[in-house]
Amino acid sequence: MAVLTVDAAGMRAQNSGLLLNMIWRERQISRAEIARRTELSPSTVSAIVADLEQAGLVRSIGAGVSRGGRRPTLIGFCDEAFSLVGVELGASHVTVVLTDLRGRVRTQSKASHAVRGDPEGSLQKAKELVQECLDAERVPRRSVVGMGVAVPSPVHPASPGKMSPLILPAWKHVDVKEWFETAFDMPVFVDNDANLGALSECFWGAGSGGEDLTYIKLATGIGAGHIIHGDVYRGAGGTAGEIGHIAVDSNGPLCVCGLRGCLVTLIGSTALTERARELMGTRGRKGPTVRDLVDGARAGDAAAKTIIDGMGAYLGIAVGGLLNLLNPAIVVLGGEISSVGEMLLDPLRASVRQRALSVSMAETRIVTSALGERAIAVGAATLVLQAALRDRSLFPTQHVGRSA
Ligand SMILES: [Zn+2]
Repeated sequence: MAVLTVDAAGMRAQNSGLLLNMIWRERQISRAEIARRTELSPSTVSAIVADLEQAGLVRSIGAGVSRGGRRPTLIGFCDEAFSLVGVELGASHVTVVLTDLRGRVRTQSKASHAVRGDPEGSLQKAKELVQECLDAERVPRRSVVGMGVAVPSPVHPASPGKMSPLILPAWKHVDVKEWFETAFDMPVFVDNDANLGALSECFWGAGSGGEDLTYIKLATGIGAGHIIHGDVYRGAGGTAGEIGHIAVDSNGPLCVCGLRGCLVTLIGSTALTERARELMGTRGRKGPTVRDLVDGARAGDAAAKTIIDGMGAYLGIAVGGLLNLLNPAIVVLGGEISSVGEMLLDPLRASVRQRALSVSMAETRIVTSALGERAIAVGAATLVLQAALRDRSLFPTQHVGRSA
């Protein structure tokens, strides 16, 4: 292990982060137990705990169980001390959530909006929704740790505010991170939507308690987010998990990316609704939506079932490869179409079984999202929490709580 030379302040900040993380994870723990696990001196632990208490992040919550001597005082994490904002910019909607420090949604707001083609209007809409949420809960900006923003584009770690010009050409000149920082004067973190769905499911949902998970977003775009050892895996340029552009049919349709037969051209929302129009007929002037497909499948419509069977078969080609490559403990499907549950999981598992090593398959559960449609927005808020639990200086210094 590398030996780092840090000054006393740096060391103290590092220990403070370590303790904060431990108290958050354990929910309640005694000073003595913290000292035992961290091998820090009791006086150092007491000083840091006093500092965290002063900041409103932890508090004494009564006596624990005695191990012979005096009953120890337990320290608990204050889940409601501060708020987190999560914003999801979808292809055709904006969702905003305000959560506490345990991923519980205090309030949420959603609006339909053609995000892909209208950056300025989408950002203004998001700003309105964020303000609506803050107002509804009477949360002043100074008690918000920061804002996470999920975007339907790969995000390069070196320029996290910029979208891929290939995927979102209209957003070429926009820096989402700068825009929100200016609008709200708080730290802003941006990441790909599927990455944040993965983070969300790992912290609070289907993969809770585990550290290796893949989340697949099934929507207008098809993307995957990977959690490896508890962290989002982004790859060298931020495009890890772009499974929508895996070629699954070399004679398939031409994709926006310039390649042919990408998964997204066969099972993205546009492809599904076109297929639904062919097989189910037009429903009104606009033709069937993904919602109609879900409702149809649930009502036993044979055409809807055929479309979802086909979707599972194609998706299985990508998921089979993914299991062989990464062997995640769990694969979680999100997006509106995943609400059909077993109707999609059955053909998907059958297709995966033909392509993945049986040992990979045996160790991986394939399930649908436990968090549903707000998984990604909650994941955006969780990105801020994860950063703040590592760098305690992100928490506002003065505890202010909610205003009256
Ligand atoms: Zn493509």
